[in-house]
Amino acid sequence: MSSDNTQHPDHGATDAETRTNQRHKARMARKKTVIDARIAQASRDKGLVLILTGNGKGKSSSAFGMVGRSLGHGLRVGVCQFIKSRTDTGEEAFFSHQPGVAWHVLGDGFTWDTQDRQQDIATSKRGWEVARHMLADPAINVVVLDELTYLLNYGYLDTAAVLTAIRARPVDQHVIITGRAASPELCALADTVSEIEDVKHAYRGGIQAQKGIDL
Ligand code: ATP
Ligand code: MG
Repeated sequence: MSSDNTQHPDHGATDAETRTNQRHKARMARKKTVIDARIAQASRDKGLVLILTGNGKGKSSSAFGMVGRSLGHGLRVGVCQFIKSRTDTGEEAFFSHQPGVAWHVLGDGFTWDTQDRQQDIATSKRGWEVARHMLADPAINVVVLDELTYLLNYGYLDTAAVLTAIRARPVDQHVIITGRAASPELCALADTVSEIEDVKHAYRGGIQAQKGIDL
């Protein structure tokens, strides 16, 4: 009888390693059965509404990750960047020149920079017109509404009108919405909602926004 340290004749593994490997194989086979069944159940195509919310970093950059994926498949993408007015970001420099992308920076700066509610409302309404046309255009496969939640949460746009336009979009069009504190109404409309937790951020360690990471 071999001990746990005995070399297995076939692969050079000890008996203990062989038993571990067999248990792993059996566990993975059970897992595969469950995952394959789930994949088989999820067989429909549909234009999705995705929400990336929460206080942690990674909301907009996740949306732009999906822009890259979409372009890789030859899809057409429309991006509306609300709130922000800067046009020197890496994402804009890269994506706005790609074929198949309509990129719009529609903000006036953060509300604490403008400090002018009427101006913010006027800017938001102008920006929303661009978004509304995208949501009615069947030639656009993916629409990104970056930082939209703030416009709804501050009451700059009428939530009911925004939800109606999203519901009435072409059936196979995907919509990706980012921003903190997505409302329950918005989340109820979405198919996928991810809340990113702020565990730690370099900014609080005195590190300014870094090219490629933050802009
Ligand atoms: P990103 O664009 O990096 O994915 P985000 O969309 O999740 O970030 P925003 O609230 O839009 O977050 O913030 C934009 C900028 O603020 C980015 O430079 C980002 O790194 C920074 N930021 C994001 N989360 C935090 C945080 N919790 N504390 C401080 N700065 C943050
Ligand atoms: Mg963002």
